[in-house]
Amino acid sequence: MATVIDGKAYAQKLRNSLAETVATLKKDHDLVPGLAVVLVGEDPASQVYVRNKAKQTIEVGMQSFEHKLPAETAQDTLLALIEKLNGDDSVHGILVQLPLPSHIHESTVINSVSHDKDVDGFHLINVGRLNTDGGGVVPCTPLGCLMMLKAQLGDLTGLNAVIVGRSNIVGKPMAALLLQANCTVTIAHSRTQDLEGLCRSADILVAAVGRARMVPGSWVKPGATVIDVGINRIEEQGKRRLVGDVDYDSASAVAGAITPVPGGVGPMTIACLLHNTVQQAKRLRGIQG
Ligand code: NDP
Repeated sequence: MATVIDGKAYAQKLRNSLAETVATLKKDHDLVPGLAVVLVGEDPASQVYVRNKAKQTIEVGMQSFEHKLPAETAQDTLLALIEKLNGDDSVHGILVQLPLPSHIHESTVINSVSHDKDVDGFHLINVGRLNTDGGGVVPCTPLGCLMMLKAQLGDLTGLNAVIVGRSNIVGKPMAALLLQANCTVTIAHSRTQDLEGLCRSADILVAAVGRARMVPGSWVKPGATVIDVGINRIEEQGKRRLVGDVDYDSASAVAGAITPVPGGVGPMTIACLLHNTVQQAKRLRGIQG
């Protein structure tokens, strides 16, 4: 059976280390990193994410600022709020919870956040930096995946990595990070031929598709490390469940290591958001390290 990659434990470790860093920043620099989260509308899943983010932000000793706006908020009103937050010295990270209501242009909003306060790594400048000099802020979900992969496998040099999914928030940045880590990277998507064979060639298999249990154990190379990013809400035998894009039962019989859903990538994503906020606070103050 595969080793379970315990995302909750990795996230707790990262938060503990962040709490120490935050305490030092306060003592030595009188700096308390602040994260502003903007939620437009009443999407229930988004409300849960925002609540969890705020709770964990406070737990590590940072400041949390929540801005909840009604679903019918005009784009200009949202942009004005972001401009205010861009100029607020107590705010070092700004996160606009996605998805936004359909009348709001997502990329206009994302790129209105100062790239120095972007903690999602979605601003065009940070996307560009990730794909060139490797600096800037890295999107939270792929960053969390990379941290777990390095903790699990050590040096990733030369490994074959296959990423199923080419979204801007997961698949593409994941590929950039694994390329930087010297993996040989292939990105698969809905038009890929022989997805099964491709997956079976992977030493590292990352599934970020959004289709419940799409990847069975027969697609996994024996001993491979499987990172399941998918979060799918399904109903099974009258019960609501969260499952990944990988069929956990069959894949864990073949893989060397695997992330569970829930309890794998999800917890690390929020911990990496806090990490990015601390990094931005330090950068804005010119603090090295
Ligand atoms: P998107 O819908 O933006 O992208 C899905 C990708 O999967 C697309 O590139 C699509 O290909 C590809 N795809 C769809 N069907 C197939 C198929 N049959 N075979 C191969 N590829 C396919 O999703 P996201 O990247 O935003 O999210 C992916 C999953 O990860 C979701 O379940 C989401 O909830 C979860 N997620 C989890 C996070 C966490 O913290 N754990 C954070 C973010 C996302 P094409 O481009 O050709 O359409």
